[in-house]
Amino acid sequence: MNIYPWQLPLWKRLTEVRQGIPHALLLQGRSGIGKLDLAKNLSQSLLCQTPDASGMACGVCASCGWFMQSNHPDYRLLTPVEEGDATEDEPAAIKKSGKKNQISIDQVRELASFMGLSSHHSSGPRIVLIHPAEALNPSSANALLKMLEEPPVGMMFILVSHQPQRLLPTIRSRCQKIEMPVPTHEVAMAWLNRQGIIDADERLTYAGGAPLGLLQDSDINYTQLTELWQMLSKGIRLDPYAATPICTKVGMEVAVPALQKWAYDLLACAIQFSERAEVRYHPKLKVALQGLAKDVNVRLLLDFQRKLDEARRAANHPLNIELQLECLLLQYTQIFFR
Ligand SMILES: [Zn+2]
Repeated sequence: MNIYPWQLPLWKRLTEVRQGIPHALLLQGRSGIGKLDLAKNLSQSLLCQTPDASGMACGVCASCGWFMQSNHPDYRLLTPVEEGDATEDEPAAIKKSGKKNQISIDQVRELASFMGLSSHHSSGPRIVLIHPAEALNPSSANALLKMLEEPPVGMMFILVSHQPQRLLPTIRSRCQKIEMPVPTHEVAMAWLNRQGIIDADERLTYAGGAPLGLLQDSDINYTQLTELWQMLSKGIRLDPYAATPICTKVGMEVAVPALQKWAYDLLACAIQFSERAEVRYHPKLKVALQGLAKDVNVRLLLDFQRKLDEARRAANHPLNIELQLECLLLQYTQIFFR
């Protein structure tokens, strides 16, 4: 594994204090900038028996071997239980409560026995990596809080989150917060070029400057998105029934984030009312967005954003995609005065 160029200064700071690293870290920042990779690199490095001078894990010691085969005895990765790999008695409960994509209390409780063991290497740390931390539900978060309050010696927690505001404030306050760096446009473009991706200027902007986000979005059809943006530019004159097929064509998991990004830029224009308004995702459509922003009811726009957040969270099990998209687009036309 490599450290992304934009993370090097942070990596240096973290590995220099190796021994004195706080027992709970919260790596926070936008999606797609490599937070999880850094957390894994750091875990492997702290567990490695012979890290190199730059703090990188050696990749050849026994500890690195276990880590790379995902069976290191002093390491646990907590991620949401997917329907497919839930335990036998869980799927029904998950379906009933609609609680998939959460880190369950059982997963956190299992840590108790992990914490009770002594580490495989008497002097080494034991590490729990939680990703994404906002997937903790209220009960699992409370169970974790108790562990954060009185961690055994050598125990370390690394929480990774792009929505830290959704974490319990008491969990946040127990962690040393680290703002994860976003690469500059130039640094991100240079890195993408090295991955063999060229002409990615616009796509990088649409990915909010997050190069790994761009890689994840590699199957997005930008021609179709452009069609959607043209529709959205019509504001109150948009015909929801004509726009719905475009959204269904790109798919719910692309359409809803696209609407979120559009609403984000529209809000930025609406509350800044100036030439300097920052248009993060659609700089080329700034004039259209500013025109729309003049006629927007900000309160209704905020309602619309909340609806989009809900739709995004429910995107994994939509009941009637077409109907849902139609409603969202109809609501969009209603946020304008004229
Ligand atoms: Zn090693």
